[in-house]
Amino acid sequence: MFRAEVYNLPSTRRSLSFTVVLLSLAWVPISCSRSKDTAQANAQSSPPASATDYSLPNLSLPPDSASPPVFNGEQAFQYVKEIVAFGPRPLGSGNHKKVEDFILAHLKGVDVENDVFTADTPEGKLPVHNIVAKFPGTKDGIIVVASHYDTNYPLRNTSFVGANDGGSSSALLLELVNQFRGRNLEGYSVWLVWDDAEEAIEPDGSGGLPRKMPFEDDSLYGITHLAQKWQGDGTIKKIKTFLLADMVGDADLNIEQDSNSTPWLEAVVYEAATRLGYQSHFFARTMAVDDDHIPFLKLGVPSADFIDFDYGYNDVYWHTTQDTVDKLSPKSLEIVGATMLETIRILGKMEPLPPK
Ligand SMILES: [Zn+2]
Repeated sequence: MFRAEVYNLPSTRRSLSFTVVLLSLAWVPISCSRSKDTAQANAQSSPPASATDYSLPNLSLPPDSASPPVFNGEQAFQYVKEIVAFGPRPLGSGNHKKVEDFILAHLKGVDVENDVFTADTPEGKLPVHNIVAKFPGTKDGIIVVASHYDTNYPLRNTSFVGANDGGSSSALLLELVNQFRGRNLEGYSVWLVWDDAEEAIEPDGSGGLPRKMPFEDDSLYGITHLAQKWQGDGTIKKIKTFLLADMVGDADLNIEQDSNSTPWLEAVVYEAATRLGYQSHFFARTMAVDDDHIPFLKLGVPSADFIDFDYGYNDVYWHTTQDTVDKLSPKSLEIVGATMLETIRILGKMEPLPPK
């Protein structure tokens, strides 16, 4: 995760600040200033957002009498430990290559698309490698499930391992492979994407010096390239929805209601969580998140971000060397993984899917 979006602030402050918006009767912006080292927020006792603020337009969800999906959170947690054991994995590093090989080794026998290119960044040309694993379904159309696996570049010379930020969601996708391998999925095809270079390359707050590259251009390198590639070859027309996981392992799990995500799809996610009894971990607050789903939203693909941007009090562990495995739990991975599977199952039964 590289940042959350700002409401009503000059663009020059965007990289340093974010605003949490709680839904009550009206949007109530709460400005929070943050930097890499400090994060201050005004605690508010406003009522939490209600998911009923999102209606389900034109949806008739069939009753689901099948047994709930099972997701192995313990196995996913084990994968987090294995990913983190490689150490920091910024772009261009040997550790990054090791994690690429680790993911690809897990995908033996799976139809894999490698999207490899060189990105022009503020630190020069850096190699980028998106990995796509394709699992066929019985219906025409594709659901993409994505996670970035690179770690924060400005922290590359520290002990930052991104257990939650990059590690948790990448591990969750590895466990989804175990669910999907060798099966013809009932419903849409699912393509799992380990995307690269999500994180900004240039640090925030570089002593007041002008940025080498506008902040808006210095992130989401991998997923932007993949979205453009799939637009060029026509694949984008087959993609029904884009589901993103990012920072999903926090033992204190609170998935945000993201106002950048597609409202009807957020409602399906909440319905999925509710069917599993996990709704208390979803949508207690609303914020606008800039993340890997943005390029697909711009191309008209309904998209939803599963993200918990409250990692430690006031998000103090985010982008610090405190982002370590001891803050995570298998149960949180199980909650998000099962909700992701239930969301996919509901989407497979909705006919037709609403437009964006
Ligand atoms: Zn991040």
